[in-house]
Amino acid sequence: MTFWRNKTVLVAGGAGFIGCHLVQELLRAGGKVHVVDNFSTGRAGPLKALGQDNLTVEQLDISRPAILPQADIVFNLASPASPIHYQSDPIQTWKTNILGTLQLFEHAHACNATLVQASTSEVYGDPLSHPQKETDWGHVNPVGPRACYDESKRAAETLLMDAARTSDADVRIARIFNTYGPGMTTSDGRAIPKFVAQAKAGDALTVHGDGTQTRSFCYVSDTVDGLLHLGSLPVAKGEIFNIGNPVENTILDIARHVIAIFGDGNDIVFEDRPVDDLQRRRPDIKKAETLLQWTPKVTLKEGLMTLSESQRQGKTKATRTHTS
Ligand code: NAD
Ligand code: UDP
Repeated sequence: MTFWRNKTVLVAGGAGFIGCHLVQELLRAGGKVHVVDNFSTGRAGPLKALGQDNLTVEQLDISRPAILPQADIVFNLASPASPIHYQSDPIQTWKTNILGTLQLFEHAHACNATLVQASTSEVYGDPLSHPQKETDWGHVNPVGPRACYDESKRAAETLLMDAARTSDADVRIARIFNTYGPGMTTSDGRAIPKFVAQAKAGDALTVHGDGTQTRSFCYVSDTVDGLLHLGSLPVAKGEIFNIGNPVENTILDIARHVIAIFGDGNDIVFEDRPVDDLQRRRPDIKKAETLLQWTPKVTLKEGLMTLSESQRQGKTKATRTHTS
């Protein structure tokens, strides 16, 4: 994408799973990238291993007042994303998503920069509509254990949409659905990397509940592609877009799929479901397909194969599938 050539891009949370893939694509496209990250869940190593002159990496907590680098475009990816991480320090999750987003917005506005906010499908809660369109208001337990994440991401959206309505600020919101791929840690408890690791180790796969709950998993290169389209197209100003893969699977099907590809007749054990675990999740992506001309390309099988290969090689850096 020629748009990114010579653009200065600030990526908050750029040392995390999605951030690391995004930074690689921005560099490939000729951008100059500044990463700020507190390294609470991300790591500096994979970025530093890129050895790029056009990349700076700074340790910084966006929820505290900070001097931030000037930029043309700001991506705010800074937030814990897995239930284990965001629930381990819920107050810090709040501070990051509320105070951090406010600081990044004010900085982006002062720089006359575009701000792309990484929001989440969690704003839909346990959805009353299916598939979820951007117009769905959400159905969230405001006081449950997931609320520190869901509600702070919702409040960040409120802040940014108020800003878009009352000023000339250029803000854009991506509601990202479950994303997977190389660079995820198996210890953060998310289903796909955990199942793949369990299958390959010959262990039983741990399915929560009866496994009939659904998710729509998007391979990380597709998610990153969506973010790049969102950051670069003028039509996206002041708009919210679902970024996800609309192919929906039950978690039990995902476990069986993973065993078929990587396992050897592994058992499946059924465990208690976490509190407020969502029953259904599938994005309606017509808006992104129409206005951003973006659509996910990587199938679940291709994505799982690439993830497995990266685990085998012990790679921490981003890996693209051949189709993306
Ligand atoms: P991640 O935990 O791998 O990355 C988040 C990064 O933010 C980490 O590097 C972490 O150290 C950093 N960070 C956290 N708090 C910070 C703070 N106060 N100051 C500076 N840096 C901070 O998570 P991810 O999966 O890469 O998610 C990235 C973004 O995308 C998050 O905003 C998340 O809410 C959103 N998202 C992710 C998914 C998904 O499936 N991975 C789904 C929906 C939304
Ligand atoms: N899940 C599971 N076994 C695991 C980890 C997760 O059955 O070992 C389930 C989890 O309860 C949820 C789904 O898989 O229903 C997706 O979980 P994940 O944490 O990956 O994403 P999220 O719940 O945030 O959508």
